[in-house]
Amino acid sequence: MTEPTTTTPAAATTGPGWAQRYGAALMNTFGAPQRVLVRGEGAYVWDADGRRYLDLLGGIAVNALGHAHPAYVAAVTEQLGTLGHVSNFFATPAQVGLAEKLLALVTPGGAPAGSRVFLANSGTEANEAALKMARRHGGAARPRILALEGAFHGRTMGALALTHKAAYREPFEPLPGGVEFVPFGDLAALEAAMGDDVAALFLEPIQGEAGVRPLPPGYLARARALTSAAGALLVLDEVQSGMGRTGTWMAHHLPHVGGGVVPDVVTLAKGLGGGFPIGATVALGEHAATLLGPGQHGTTFGGNPVAAAAALAVIGAIEDEGLLAHVAELGTWLREKVAGLGHARLAGVRGEGLLIAIELTEPVAPRVAAALLDAGFIVNPVREDAVRLAPPLVLTTAQAQSFLDALPAALDVAGARP
Ligand code: PLP
Repeated sequence: MTEPTTTTPAAATTGPGWAQRYGAALMNTFGAPQRVLVRGEGAYVWDADGRRYLDLLGGIAVNALGHAHPAYVAAVTEQLGTLGHVSNFFATPAQVGLAEKLLALVTPGGAPAGSRVFLANSGTEANEAALKMARRHGGAARPRILALEGAFHGRTMGALALTHKAAYREPFEPLPGGVEFVPFGDLAALEAAMGDDVAALFLEPIQGEAGVRPLPPGYLARARALTSAAGALLVLDEVQSGMGRTGTWMAHHLPHVGGGVVPDVVTLAKGLGGGFPIGATVALGEHAATLLGPGQHGTTFGGNPVAAAAALAVIGAIEDEGLLAHVAELGTWLREKVAGLGHARLAGVRGEGLLIAIELTEPVAPRVAAALLDAGFIVNPVREDAVRLAPPLVLTTAQAQSFLDALPAALDVAGARP
């Protein structure tokens, strides 16, 4: 958690017209880029004009250690200089070590016999593997899969079938069938939907893309009881909420969120690789066997040694630097401070640890985010009425304070009629 020592940017490699070129050849599905970023250090990034920004989005919960963390860079460099890639017919120490470590982190009480980790390249892919497990679980006798309203699990055809937002789904229908959406947080509705023809229930312990919405206390424990009774798999998508972001390794480890629940599958990505593309399907117990066997599932790059070494470096730094306790403390402090600003445009603060949504009284989040960007702070308007923070876990209190100092003016600007 050292402060950056330099503020001068690397030589701009972009030049005039670069931003226009961006969309010409590259398929930029998110629209024109807001800035051209050329360098990062800790929780700061610099644009091509040398302006510094506090990165409170961290690549959307990805850059767990911030940018250019020395131990991370060293681990990746060493692995790349040793062995960069092997085919699936071989294993590497980084990959095996990561799988063992993930089982230990996900199930601190000990992973059930038979547990295995499938390494993929992204959160979407991790969920696709879980979806295949669900399909194999019970076969034709269990054609139904349950997910929640507001859910986001990715954008490939299978993961998209689990994703609730109509604007994402409708252009691509028909999607793989069998998925039913249950109202968020409604246990009576879940109970009514559950049955012995259900293969799996997919849940995000904290819905990220829906605006940082934690499941209500007690929901997960009841969902576990219902899925167990019905013989259905409980799949927890911790792609955004996992890997230390909540001040615990997994969001479902928080007593008031998960309360000791042991799921059947946990999917991870984002913060796992700290910036390297990697995902993991952590399959607990005998269910893991449904993906084993020749040709059942696979990917060329999943478990790539460099990405696996990156993930091990992230986990190592979180442990060595005591970041879980730091995140829990700083997250609570930051949420309380935002709430305490008492600004008329603030409706509330949601989240756990450093996965936070600042709720606004009006749908002005894009303008608040734009004003903050101009002031040197990167956040994300996750909804029209909510700004999301998912900063590096190494964010310091002083950096968080600088954001608090800038927030009221951004809220004022956004409130002024254009
Ligand atoms: N699941 C959740 C909960 C997510 O938030 C996301 C991405 O935002 C995904 C899955 C998809 O992950 P990826 O973009 O790595 O494919």
